[in-house]
Formats: sequence, C-alpha cells, structure tokens
Amino acid sequence: MEVTLMHHTPLDVCAHAIRTCWQSFDKSDEGGEKDKALIDRVGNKYKHASTLEHLVYTFYVKGISRALLQELARHRMASPSVKSTRYTLKELKNIDPFKEDDYESANKFIVLTGNTLVDTASIKALNNLQAILKEGIGNDIAKFCLPESYKTELTWTINARSLQNFIELRSNKSALWEIRKMAQKLYTALPREHQYLFKEKIYDEKHD
Ligand SMILES: Cc1cc2nc3c(=O)[nH]c(=O)nc-3n(C[C@H](O)[C@H](O)[C@H](O)COP(=O)(O)OP(=O)(O)OC[C@H]3O[C@@H](n4cnc5c(N)ncnc54)[C@H](O)[C@@H]3O)c2cc1C
Repeated sequence: MEVTLMHHTPLDVCAHAIRTCWQSFDKSDEGGEKDKALIDRVGNKYKHASTLEHLVYTFYVKGISRALLQELARHRMASPSVKSTRYTLKELKNIDPFKEDDYESANKFIVLTGNTLVDTASIKALNNLQAILKEGIGNDIAKFCLPESYKTELTWTINARSLQNFIELRSNKSALWEIRKMAQKLYTALPREHQYLFKEKIYDEKHD
C-alpha cells in the first residue's frame, strides 16, 4: 500500500476561520506557534470542531484491497474517486494465468495476507476471473466474481475533523489489519506541522 499526500490546506486558513469569530486577525502569526495553539485550543479542547473542517487533505492511495475499500466507503464525511473495475479489468486480459505459488506476480493485482491457504485461493479466483474475461465476457458481468483481495486505488479527500474520526476508529486494534495500516500511513503522510492535531487520535500500541 502506498499513501501520498497530494494537497493540503495551510494551517493559517484554519486560524483565519477561527479568528473570524473573534475578529482577532491582528493576533495571527501566519500559521506559526500562536495559530497552531489556537487551532488546538478551539478545534480540539473547546470542541468547536467545525473549525477543523477548513483543513482539507487530498491523498492518493494505491494498492489497497476492495475489502478495505468497502470499509473506507462507510466514512461518509470524505470523498473517494476510485479506479473502476468496469473500465479497467482489461488489465488482466492480455497476460498469462498466474502459477498458484507465484505470489510475487499475483501481488500486482491482489493484496496478500501471508496466509498460504487464503493467498492461494485468491490467486485461483484471479485466474478464474481472467479465464472469464478471455472468453469475451464483459467487465460489467465478469466483475461479480472479483475476489475481495483485488487491488484498487483512489484519490481521497477528507477534512481534518473527519480524518481525526477516521484515525481514531481505524488505527485502533479492533479495526481490520489493512485499514489500521492505512490509518498509520495517512498519519505519516501528513505535513509534520499538522500531525499534532491527530497525535492523540492515533492508537499507540505501546499503551496496551
Ligand atoms: C471496529 C469497527 C467495526 C465495525 N464493524 C462494522 C460492522 O460489522 N458492520 C457495519 O455495517 N459497519 C461496521 N463498522 C463501520 C461503522 O459502523 C461506521 O460506519 C464507520 O466506522 C464510519 O464511522 P462514522 O460514521 O463515524 O464516519 P462518517 O460516516 O465519516 O461520519 C463522521 C461523523 O459524522 C456524524 N454523522 C455522519 N452521518 C450521520 C448521521 N446519519 N446521523 C448522525 N450523525 C452522523 C457522526 O458524528 C460521525 O461520527 C465498523 C467500524 C469499526 C471501527
């Protein structure tokens, strides 16, 4: 899985939104330590959390399973644009079937779990799908036998309030292992000066 931050709102935009309420623009230090403390105080401590919605992040997420995608889609306060199997399944059509123990080649298309029984079953499912496509069955029908492990990618835009919620729920040890990995990678991909807003939300295994 690869997570890349494509775009983010500078902190001073959020500080400006907060200062609008008090008309205290003259106290700004243009996104410096004073503004950072203000955002944390108002957005987090005072729970005037709608102000955090002015901070928006766009990520490109590659190589996640459709199992994870299904969980990601439950987060309503985010916007995903996802690689469509309807338009892209031809990527499987013009290659040879995978050997059942060739994990390296199959890993281009499926997320491997490390469990041989499961991963071999995924490779078989991939080969079944490929055989169906080679028979000339259209993507809109063939996609119904995709394994959940099939890899996808998306552009994902989310605001800081919703990302806090996502990181809190999905880095937790009760979440699915793959989405936990994604939550950690999202946190790491954030600009260093923004990470303090999420530090308390990320699950820390050391505290178990
Ligand atoms: C460990 C774990 C196990 C889970 N297991 C299951 C499962 O078995 N089956 C299943 O279906 N789902 C399951 N989920 C998904 C879960 O129910 C949520 O759909 C998902 O985590 C998204 O959370 P959210 O609603 O807070 O996020 P968002 O949809 O992004 O919403 C963000 C916030 O906006 C507010 N909000 C959004 N919509 C509404 C609304 N309609 N009314 C009031 N407030 C709203 C809430 O405050 C919410 O926290 C699981 C989640 C976790 C973390």
